[in-house]
Amino acid sequence: MKLVTFVYNGHSRIGALTGDGSVVDLQRANPQLPGDMLALLAGGADTLALAQQAVASAPADAVLALASVTLQAPIPRPGKILCIGLNYRDHAAESNQPIPQFPTVFAKYNNTIVGPGAAIVLPTVTEKVDYEAEFAFVIGRTARNVKAEDALDYVAGYLPFNDVSARDYQMRTSQWTVGKTFDTFGPLGPALVTSDEIANPHDLDISLTINGEVLQSSNTSNLIFSVNELIADLTSFMTLEPGDIISTGTPSGVGSARKPQRWLRAGDVVAVTIEGLGTLENPVVAG
Ligand code: ZN
Repeated sequence: MKLVTFVYNGHSRIGALTGDGSVVDLQRANPQLPGDMLALLAGGADTLALAQQAVASAPADAVLALASVTLQAPIPRPGKILCIGLNYRDHAAESNQPIPQFPTVFAKYNNTIVGPGAAIVLPTVTEKVDYEAEFAFVIGRTARNVKAEDALDYVAGYLPFNDVSARDYQMRTSQWTVGKTFDTFGPLGPALVTSDEIANPHDLDISLTINGEVLQSSNTSNLIFSVNELIADLTSFMTLEPGDIISTGTPSGVGSARKPQRWLRAGDVVAVTIEGLGTLENPVVAG
């Protein structure tokens, strides 16, 4: 399923995209289903199976034209947003950093999350706002001390993410948090694609364009730490819960490493595309 959160007639709902440009309102299709994504994911495999049935047998009044709804971030308020730095060999090289021995983990927060089509707002205090196309995964079951070989059983699904970063703020101290956590610096979506639809998460093309120009192009086969290894590492020290988002890092081609450097500008349209997961497109506006 391609799970979405959307607003229809002023109300936030969850649904599933169909192949023909419609969205099925899950709770309207089956009133037993929850009305928000975190509750749906917390219900686990049984609830997702119920959702799948609801999509297959949806009554006409539960099927909405995509054009009649406004998509939000699929998970508007996740419990955690963990990001992995320097997780593609080519990006570590362009950043003049060695291949890391352990995953570099940092956090973003809910204030950064915006959905597809929503604006990335340029702060007035920085002129060095950068883009990072990223492949993110979402936890579907409570996970602690998970072995790498079992880790994909804990993944609910996958989605595109843009780890927008103010490089001057990011680098002014050894901790990256401030440069990573401006409002709107976490575009997410368009849909959470459930893991049953992705045969191999480690062989997906990933790219980023600005105004149609390709600036990043890679494949998740180039990840240094795989989804399995990241879950094993993270759950060795913390509990991951349904709805937690882990973004796996960006490939080469970020604006700060280009010559000349390419910072986001008002009027740009940034698009992250991942094979099988769709395109996350966001306009950039002045703050
Ligand atoms: Zn990143």
